[in-house]
Amino acid sequence: MNSTPGILIFCLEKEEQVWVDVCSFVTEFISRLFSCGSHESGLYYALDLGGTNFRVLRVHLGGLNGGIVNQEFAEVPIPPELMTGAADALFDYIAAELAKFVAQEGQEHELPPGRKRELGFTFSFPVNQTSIASGTLVRWTKGFSIDELVGQDVVTELSRAMKRQNLEMHVSALVNDTVGTLAGGRYTNKDVAAAVILGTGTNAAYVERAQAIPKWHGALPKSGEMVINMEWGNFKSSHLPLTEFDNSLDGDSLNPGEQIFEKLISGMYLGEIVRRALLKMAEEASFFGETVPSKLKVPFILRTPDMSAMHHDTSSDLKVVASKLKDILEITSTSLKTRKVIVEVCNIIATRGSRLAAAGVVAILRKMGEVQQKTVIAMDGGLYEHYNEYSKCLENTLTELLGEEVSKTVEVIHANDGSGIGAALLAASHSQYL
Ligand code: ADP
Ligand code: MG
Repeated sequence: MNSTPGILIFCLEKEEQVWVDVCSFVTEFISRLFSCGSHESGLYYALDLGGTNFRVLRVHLGGLNGGIVNQEFAEVPIPPELMTGAADALFDYIAAELAKFVAQEGQEHELPPGRKRELGFTFSFPVNQTSIASGTLVRWTKGFSIDELVGQDVVTELSRAMKRQNLEMHVSALVNDTVGTLAGGRYTNKDVAAAVILGTGTNAAYVERAQAIPKWHGALPKSGEMVINMEWGNFKSSHLPLTEFDNSLDGDSLNPGEQIFEKLISGMYLGEIVRRALLKMAEEASFFGETVPSKLKVPFILRTPDMSAMHHDTSSDLKVVASKLKDILEITSTSLKTRKVIVEVCNIIATRGSRLAAAGVVAILRKMGEVQQKTVIAMDGGLYEHYNEYSKCLENTLTELLGEEVSKTVEVIHANDGSGIGAALLAASHSQYL
């Protein structure tokens, strides 16, 4: 299963045009990105709806060169039944949590009379952006499936739900997590040229010369640059080697044939690929003895954080692996040899995913042209943040693919909560009170 990076880079280059073609929106944000941070001040909010949790943020901007004075957040898991239920149920839940967050505020957060709170909405699903604060959902990904929302404006839906909660708030900006991370990253570091999300799903955005975008027919922005939301999770190519486990996972998913790159590299799927591999080993090679453990047949029972915990187990008798097997799969009394093989399966699947992610980053760098003196990639997402073996392998692969010299000009930074902060910044720079 190990990937050969040289071949992958070749494939990605060949398909580069496809990448640009799948981008769901191209905006003039970049000129705003240059200006935001210089003067915006006051309290702004962000709502970050990703895949597993959503975050509500309050960001206090300090104005001219003041940066971010303070930020506070609350994180709430999304109940699985809301991911495939009714549109109103999902948005009511989100708006109610947002209302709770606001209700707990002290006097220091009071706004001047007559002024409404303003919010940047990070919505990390493919959207056809129609203006800075509106956009229609193209399709769901990452285990969400609410048909009635496809084609609807997600800002209108959120605003209606906020009204139902009597929450006085105005949505000033709609952004995707990659664009938010790029904006947030750029606010603090002018060399940030691309953002990559590795969380429940995956996506990337980068700064492109406007002239290099054949798809764009509007006026060129003054800066001559634009942000491209690649929607790279949907990348697919006959050159991308897929195993039987990838094919069956895809076939059983809510979105077969879509988000193939995402299904190879992101947090929602890695643990599930491990489960499928172990199941085959159990069925065809009696890996866990004569009977196939019944829990091993349950889709998505083995989550990526558990895979990661097993992969990182440094105890000599692989205690963590033993306890995960017992607690999650009800498999007891495994031999050390068996547990070692399991760690190796985790390693193979994580390595393949992170090397593919690195190949994607290198493809962006090549598309941007000769690397500047310094190019900074802002990364965020629970997978990147917590799965150390994965992020370590990603960085090693970058060095391997770029070579020692070039890799010195590329820096990967962790843009913690970048997507939410970026949304608050964009809400500020597009405030209705400016
Ligand atoms: P979202 O993608 O929903 O916006 P996050 O960026 O917080 O949210 O990513 C959450 C995802 O990160 C989880 O679904 C999981 O796949 C992955 N993740 C979280 N913790 C870990 C961990 N300890 N090890 C590996 N992956 C993790
Ligand atoms: Mg996210």
